[in-house]
Amino acid sequence: MSDIITKKFDIPAALIEKLRGQYGERADGILAAFARERPVTLRVNRLKGDAAAVESELARFSPKRSAFYEDAYILEGAKERELEETALYREGKIYLQSLSSMLPPLFLEPKAGESILDMTAAPGGKTTQLSALSEGGALITACEKDKFRFERLKYNVEKQGAARVTLLNEDARNLNPYFRFDKILLDAPCSGSGTFSPSQPVKWSEKLLFKCISLQRALLLKAFSLLKSGGMLVYSTCSILREENEDAVCSLKGARLVPLEAPVGAPLLPSMEDTLCVEPDGLFEGFFVAKLFKP
Ligand code: SAM
Repeated sequence: MSDIITKKFDIPAALIEKLRGQYGERADGILAAFARERPVTLRVNRLKGDAAAVESELARFSPKRSAFYEDAYILEGAKERELEETALYREGKIYLQSLSSMLPPLFLEPKAGESILDMTAAPGGKTTQLSALSEGGALITACEKDKFRFERLKYNVEKQGAARVTLLNEDARNLNPYFRFDKILLDAPCSGSGTFSPSQPVKWSEKLLFKCISLQRALLLKAFSLLKSGGMLVYSTCSILREENEDAVCSLKGARLVPLEAPVGAPLLPSMEDTLCVEPDGLFEGFFVAKLFKP
């Protein structure tokens, strides 16, 4: 079965070998999930909209609430383009976002008054979610290196009405070493090995993987140095490869892992104790999350 999938979606042989090495026979299920188009999912932006508006104004798409997060909806059969044409979308009352990518901000538990760094932030799905979860009260610094993506981040932060967000267009590795934050989200650049779908070109390569691995470690080290003692860091990637996830977390000295509660209804792959790795299954995309405490 997986040979057919490999041919059709051009999943590189080196990646298939890695998935088989890490997950054994479960790799076939993962590859089969990559062959399915995920439904459109969205998050209600509580800074501007509410669930009632989504349920009434988007009724024709039969929105279903996700089991793990009351702000998340699944719209089977809807097209992104159709959603983008709605008033709710244009007014920033909803944000199209994959279910798995809503997890890291939930685990960071942002509160009003806390200083929070979103270290690699564009296009801003998690920055705006952090703001919404804190009811606009968290003091967020959102950093993005890429100029073009930074403009997208700025646009989304404004459109979603996320207040108290300071935007920095710079390499997070060069952030002022005297900054200190209560909480940090490092949603790291990664090889994207958990996110393939038939409509997207496959961009994975071993070269990209190695580049991401070294960047992830540098960013993680920097993030930990910018965290206050007693602070929390959430590290996430949309990769399901150990090299980008558990190995990155284990490379960090002095941090303590905080156990994560499994999100209701999310399929999980085996991962290191106290971390989570969501399995790609046609609804969820592959995603890794770890929460670290700085003593
Ligand atoms: N958290 C974002 C969201 O939810 O919308 C997605 C972040 S994406 C996985 C990773 C981002 O990191 C990319 O936009 C990339 O341009 C940015 N990036 C890569 N290297 C960086 C660096 N050294 N400093 C800051 N941002 C960086």
